[in-house]
Amino acid sequence: MLIVMKTDATDGQIEAVIRVIEELGFRAHPMSGASRTAIGITGNQGSVDPSRFENLPGVSETVRVSKPYKLVTLDLQPVKTIVRVGDAEIGGDQLAIIAGPCAIESRTQAFAIAETVRRSGARFFRGGAFKPRTSPYAFQGLGEEGLKILAEVRDIYGLRIVTEALDEPGVDLVERYADVIQIGARSMQNFTLLRRVGKSRLPVLLKRGLSATLDEWLLAAEYIMSEGNYQVVLCERGIRTFSQHTRNTLDLAAVPAVRRLSHLPVIVDPSHGTGKNFMVTPLARAGVAVGADGLIVEVHDQPSQALSDGAQALTPEQFEQLVAEVRAIHDVIIPAAVS
Ligand code: PEP
Ligand code: MN
Repeated sequence: MLIVMKTDATDGQIEAVIRVIEELGFRAHPMSGASRTAIGITGNQGSVDPSRFENLPGVSETVRVSKPYKLVTLDLQPVKTIVRVGDAEIGGDQLAIIAGPCAIESRTQAFAIAETVRRSGARFFRGGAFKPRTSPYAFQGLGEEGLKILAEVRDIYGLRIVTEALDEPGVDLVERYADVIQIGARSMQNFTLLRRVGKSRLPVLLKRGLSATLDEWLLAAEYIMSEGNYQVVLCERGIRTFSQHTRNTLDLAAVPAVRRLSHLPVIVDPSHGTGKNFMVTPLARAGVAVGADGLIVEVHDQPSQALSDGAQALTPEQFEQLVAEVRAIHDVIIPAAVS
């Protein structure tokens, strides 16, 4: 259930409602929107008796939430969430661009790519220090040394750092060095990891699992939010299908589908979503055209030498061209979406 407060409800009235929820042994999730605050309730096994709340001062109405996800839903918050990372944001008017190598390989490599990313006007730098590789013999990332390089990139280039955590000790480290915790496709249903990042003060970029339905993906986001971290960005990165011409099938219909259900921002990963250099820019254009709030793109200064995912890495020149093209598309669709 969710409790919608009146537009003129006071902080004291909101706190009183939260107290009642907690006295019942449930968890309260207040979300303040542009015009009103709604308070989501989780932790209840059965339905909550609305009469307990209806007559409390400042309460406008109680709404039963029939969806399995109580916090991710638009019912709780009809306006889009803007995830703020320092002075950069995801889900606002600007297209968010997150770019960088698949893996941090060395300081020289990371700095060369960061130079390109900064020049493009993108605000976020990506790069894995802990890599979830299919083979245990493949390059696994530089670990903490990679995180230290990422922290230097942030200091020198002013870019916000997005990097993956594979496990709970990894989250502790990522929190120390980065700005956004990436939860990879393979970890989307690692529920203890989801709960751990739900307790983090950092925003979370949640990739869709390789074979996850929309509901499973949104419920993974719900795990994070249920622990009190509401700063979640969804990322469509392609799913497994019978198609042989791509590494994964980028499910662009997921973008408007999520939009209809959730207030969370959603971005598109055309790199893992195709696996092929020549497909990345066309699918990035398409992702922006269907209304994504941003893109996450792999870029490498020497793709043929890359220690992981070289086949899908853009060169610096290709990336610059991509940014120009997607910005042009975004400039056209934003006024169209408003009108
Ligand atoms: C990555 O971003 O490099 C990555 C491993 O992504 P995914 O979890 O989507 O495969
Ligand atoms: Mn990769």
